[in-house]
Amino acid sequence: MSRPARADFDLAALRANYAHAKAVHGGKVAATLKANAYGHGAVECARALAGQADAFAVAFAQEAMELREAGLTEPILVLEGAFGMDDVALAQRHGLWLVVHQEEQLRMLESLQDRGGGAGVHAWLKIDTGMHRAGVAPGQARALWQRLAACDKVAGITLMTHLASADEPGNPMTGRQLAVFADATQGLPGPRSIANSAGVLGWKGAHQDWARPGIMLYGADPRGMPSDVLQPVMRLASEVFVERWLAPGEALGYGGSFVADRPTRVGLVAMGYADGYPRVVPSGTPVAVDGRLTRIIGRVAMDMLTVDLTDLPGAGPGAQVELWGSQVSVNQVAAAAGTIAYELLCNVKRVRRVYLRS
Ligand SMILES: *Cc1c(COP(=O)(O)O)cnc(C)c1O
Repeated sequence: MSRPARADFDLAALRANYAHAKAVHGGKVAATLKANAYGHGAVECARALAGQADAFAVAFAQEAMELREAGLTEPILVLEGAFGMDDVALAQRHGLWLVVHQEEQLRMLESLQDRGGGAGVHAWLKIDTGMHRAGVAPGQARALWQRLAACDKVAGITLMTHLASADEPGNPMTGRQLAVFADATQGLPGPRSIANSAGVLGWKGAHQDWARPGIMLYGADPRGMPSDVLQPVMRLASEVFVERWLAPGEALGYGGSFVADRPTRVGLVAMGYADGYPRVVPSGTPVAVDGRLTRIIGRVAMDMLTVDLTDLPGAGPGAQVELWGSQVSVNQVAAAAGTIAYELLCNVKRVRRVYLRS
């Protein structure tokens, strides 16, 4: 038998989550598959959504090319836009849609005019409505839009922005961003796109022609709350491979951070931080063993971690362990680790990967 650490991916759940995003948002929905589909496998996820998704979104042109090389023909939005003219050439040749978030990227498209041939590129003009990361200033949006419209190699223009705090239901930032966007784009023709997952789930005013959800497609609510609709796509799982007893007062693992206060039955699980399970979680972090909830005890090591089996009679070597999935949500583990589900999901590595298609 090989090491039992694995990640199972439920592609039917991915399709159901996409359908939910589409039903809530209306209009068109680009499935965000950047960072290897948040660790879920970009090609596998794109194939599962082919024919259903209106478009895909990735961070940069090379990520889009992986999908093209796998034979996917849907439009692909490149969220960071072109880093250089080679990316623009890929966009022309392979039908990629380029975000334009700074004037330099506009100049790249303008320079196509002097170069003759090549197909037109669909541009998504990104306006900074308050996140102050990428995006053109609202006051410049109209002038830059006009320059894009004057480019003979620009085949269409979508207006977009990105929300900074939409995962916080009461945060007034989102309303301000929506107002800035409406003002900056007033009277300009063409489709609009605002919503990430949090915008889809929480902000009707962010629902426009296009949404760009990512994390919700993988079954995690970006607000950290449980969802009765979204279904987890990834199940990170392994098995107990050794059990042992600790007497009261005995310490466990590196640093002896856990000390037994009663006779404690410990299960060693083949899963560690080198597989992407976070090292920083404290004792008490939830984990499911043979379908029953228990806790991580002691420090997570590179290749293994330890769980409390004391109250789970019958669960010993061979017991099935779910680190996250449908019994323990990735949001719960992320909260215990002081991070967000996004980071945990896209860090999974080294484990065997199994795709369930049904
Ligand atoms: C990553 C990203 C998204 C998707 O965000 P989620 O929070 O995962 O839904 C949407 N738009 C842009 C510009 C992004 O960078």
